[in-house]
Amino acid sequence: MLTDTHSHIYSGEYNGEVDEVIKRALEQGVTKIMLPNIDSSSIKMMLDLADSYTGICFPMIGIHPTSVKEDFKEELEVVEFWLSKRKFYAIGEVGIDLYWDKTFREEQEYVFSRQIQLAKQYDLPISIHVRESYEVVTDIIKKEYYPEMKGVFHCFSGTAEQADHVISMGFKIGIGGTVTFKNSGVDTVVQHVDLKNIILETDSPYLAPAPLRGKRNESANLTHIAHKVAQIKGITLEEVAETTTQTASQLFVLP
Ligand SMILES: [Zn+2]
Repeated sequence: MLTDTHSHIYSGEYNGEVDEVIKRALEQGVTKIMLPNIDSSSIKMMLDLADSYTGICFPMIGIHPTSVKEDFKEELEVVEFWLSKRKFYAIGEVGIDLYWDKTFREEQEYVFSRQIQLAKQYDLPISIHVRESYEVVTDIIKKEYYPEMKGVFHCFSGTAEQADHVISMGFKIGIGGTVTFKNSGVDTVVQHVDLKNIILETDSPYLAPAPLRGKRNESANLTHIAHKVAQIKGITLEEVAETTTQTASQLFVLP
């Protein structure tokens, strides 16, 4: 059994096919799928899927850094509204992205800080997106730090030393399709980090693992990622599945 800890399979990319996508995931042993939100426009699609697949799909709530624009205050209000209304399993996906656009950098920092405070208030883990922003993200985490803070650096792309630092702050390392790409450097991180601190993810529809690179990704492909982690660590696929699933269940407090 595997848990895909980051998958946007509710998105329009899967229009009309999502039942098949989930069927294929279950056939591959991917029995739990975490759904990170993007912004107010994605919530309905995400919750519709979560409610159709209770016990399989688990929703998060948050504003993706690339969705932080002029209307960030209204977007934050939407997040607060939903948190008060129903159960979510994490604040996500949130963070800082300075790769696509730096226009709203200050707003991104404010919105990320505010969402860490919401994670504290609701005692939820945080799913963090880091793109060309490692220093900024870790500075904000230090500023907002509280002892029970926990979460994941999703699709981790840093160094082994940065991974140690991330783990020391209470976070797990999210390993996705990039681990199967040549020269990504993620294999070094996987080798270095204790398996207990790793969780697996597809980031569907993005980042399809080899040999499917460039195609639309889906949760069933998590097996390619698990297989690669087993190969790097020289252990069995079962061991990878068991340990990463247990870590994910504890982190997100899954039933
Ligand atoms: Zn994502």
